[in-house]
Amino acid sequence: MATMNEVFAGYEARQEVLNNSSNRFAKGIAWVEGELVPLHEARIPLLDQGFMHSDLTYDVPSVWDGRFFRLDDHLNRLIASCKKMRLCLPLPREEVKSILVDMVAKSGIRDAFVELIVTRGLTGVRGARPQDLLKNNLYMFIQPYVWVMDPEVQRRGGAAIVARTVRRIPPGSIDPTIKNLMWGDLVRGLFEASDRGATYPFLTDGDANLTEGSGFNIVLVKNGVLYTPERGVLLGITRKSVIDAAEANGLEIRAEFVPVELAYQADEIFMCTTAGGIMPINTLDGKPIKDGNVGPITKMIWDTYWAMHYDDRYSFEIDFSRGGYQNGVH
Ligand SMILES: *Cc1c(COP(=O)(O)O)cnc(C)c1O
Repeated sequence: MATMNEVFAGYEARQEVLNNSSNRFAKGIAWVEGELVPLHEARIPLLDQGFMHSDLTYDVPSVWDGRFFRLDDHLNRLIASCKKMRLCLPLPREEVKSILVDMVAKSGIRDAFVELIVTRGLTGVRGARPQDLLKNNLYMFIQPYVWVMDPEVQRRGGAAIVARTVRRIPPGSIDPTIKNLMWGDLVRGLFEASDRGATYPFLTDGDANLTEGSGFNIVLVKNGVLYTPERGVLLGITRKSVIDAAEANGLEIRAEFVPVELAYQADEIFMCTTAGGIMPINTLDGKPIKDGNVGPITKMIWDTYWAMHYDDRYSFEIDFSRGGYQNGVH
């Protein structure tokens, strides 16, 4: 299994190649209405309901070292989210997959943040009858891998707070299991974290339980057992990988109500998301967690998580020759 140093060194070497690439899609590629364009030139129609009313759902898979990671899990969640919102993925699933692989190959981006957004389209729901078929829109883009926590910070751990000026939106208002961009509460949390000298807000459910943060799930470790909130959260695919990684290491993991109190007693805390993986936290509300070092269970999950990216059960290799590019060189 690769060490943290090896994982980051490999990534940096590939970044170096990408940074020197003359490929016009090397900084990102977008698929809009069937056209491929450089990401920074991509535009959406102003009247798209996704923009007008945040009437959309989305998902974010990733590519690591030229391999798509858990793409089917992300597409399953996206399609389930669409169903809950009475949206319809405008293209067949297999076609979406094939376009995404093509886009990665064309861009030569071997470590990628991939986003798919399904919006209501140009016609809003008001006045629509159940039998009306509103024409939904799909947008897709790929850009170099995004780190919610920089590799350098992952080595020592980041600073989190339990937000006290905002709570997570309740499931009875917006279903958090549908990945959405109604980030009002999460943005308030980010500002509060910044005001209090930290980076990562942990939001509660208003009843003294933890939920999640701005685009990440939360995992606590106490006496060798892992705990992650089950209600009021997006059921993250990285969270699922953490569950798989814990089981592979013979560790017990419980998905249940997690009282905020447990965070203050935790031996270890980490966050998880596709954009950054397993992200250790070393201070909560300005105080160190235990001795303030990244703990052994967090390290174990970190190592297993990155090893999973080379495991055929969770990932598949992309054929870059499909895009006419090899190693990011034309
Ligand atoms: C995307 C997201 C996560 C993490 O989900 P992954 O599937 O692991 O990337 C957690 N919480 C929220 C609110 C999110 O939007």
